[in-house]
Amino acid sequence: MAKNTGNNRIPVKWVRDKAKAAYDKKDTCYICGTKEDLELHHFNSITILLENWAAAKKYNISTDDGILAVRDEFIAEHHNELYEQVRTLCNKHHVALHRVFGKAPPSNSAVRQERWVGIQQDKFTGKETTTKTAVVGSFFSAFT
Ligand SMILES: [Zn+2]
Ligand SMILES: [Zn+2]
Repeated sequence: MAKNTGNNRIPVKWVRDKAKAAYDKKDTCYICGTKEDLELHHFNSITILLENWAAAKKYNISTDDGILAVRDEFIAEHHNELYEQVRTLCNKHHVALHRVFGKAPPSNSAVRQERWVGIQQDKFTGKETTTKTAVVGSFFSAFT
């Protein structure tokens, strides 16, 4: 076990603090349109991205000083994942998404998450489902 290095915070929290000022959070849930209890969901888990990135670059982010020294570089290199690959969801739909995909969804599920969000939106608006989305919808309903 790593000994306590005096780090006070989980490294990803430093990234979120800095990045969230620029988040493009909408004022309605993407699925149901409510304006209540809105949260921002990243299709790519920032925790996993940060850990993999730091490991690949051999950066030590286990201390506050360590993560603060490379935080801007991480944000600059992950603009798409931090700011584009996101959806504003109400708490209810955000919780529902994580119930399907897990607390920290694996990176390879980003496309499936985006599709799932689209399917939920269609269900909510009662849009005519095409043959194609109906097939995808029944695939996902097997897991809910
Ligand atoms: Zn919602
Ligand atoms: Zn989320």
